[in-house]
Amino acid sequence: MNKIIIASGNRGKISEIRKILSLENIEILDLRALAFNGDIDESGSDFKENALIKAVEVFSRYRLPVLADDSGLSVPYLGGKPGVFSARFAGPEAGDEENNNLLLEKLRGTTEGERKAWFTCAAVFYYDTGRYFYSEGRIDGVITDTPAGMNGFGYDPLFFIPDRGKTMAQLSEDEKNEVSHRAQAFKRINRYIKDYFRSIK
Ligand code: IMP
Repeated sequence: MNKIIIASGNRGKISEIRKILSLENIEILDLRALAFNGDIDESGSDFKENALIKAVEVFSRYRLPVLADDSGLSVPYLGGKPGVFSARFAGPEAGDEENNNLLLEKLRGTTEGERKAWFTCAAVFYYDTGRYFYSEGRIDGVITDTPAGMNGFGYDPLFFIPDRGKTMAQLSEDEKNEVSHRAQAFKRINRYIKDYFRSIK
């Protein structure tokens, strides 16, 4: 059976990506299932560069087609931060709660306009050395001043989506997958994956 690897060990992300993709007869592996213990140096200056760094590293290790994404939150009032540092905003070992607390602290006393933010997801389907498809998704919202909701991961409890009247963490996984930056990027990538496997039959 054809195989691809999701180049992530983040439970929340892996679960979302698996649900977004609709692929038949393709086994989808991930870095948890593979017990990958390498430390990938995400030193790129933007999301796309980091997605490619992850893809290349995992492809060169396993020589199988790879799906990689790099994603994060950008707040213009904070000069675009946390951006590519979203996972480690409050330090290299920081978890979601510490990152969220730091974000709240930095936005204390700001107006709603200053709390505008968006999530970006840069997704890559890397199928051979130097050969890949790329897709990007974005969702706009406002950072709340108190966390709400139990679903999702990362900054979801603070990310309010005006159209839905809810934070991202108040959406079910299926609802998040209707609107999220990751869903937009991976729904497009899904088509590329199908075309690729058809073309090598
Ligand atoms: P990555 O695994 O290097 O792409 O880091 C992504 C980080 O950005 C996560 O650890 C979260 O802090 C944040 N992030 C990305 N996507 C989401 C999302 O869908 N919800 C909440 N936080 C997210």
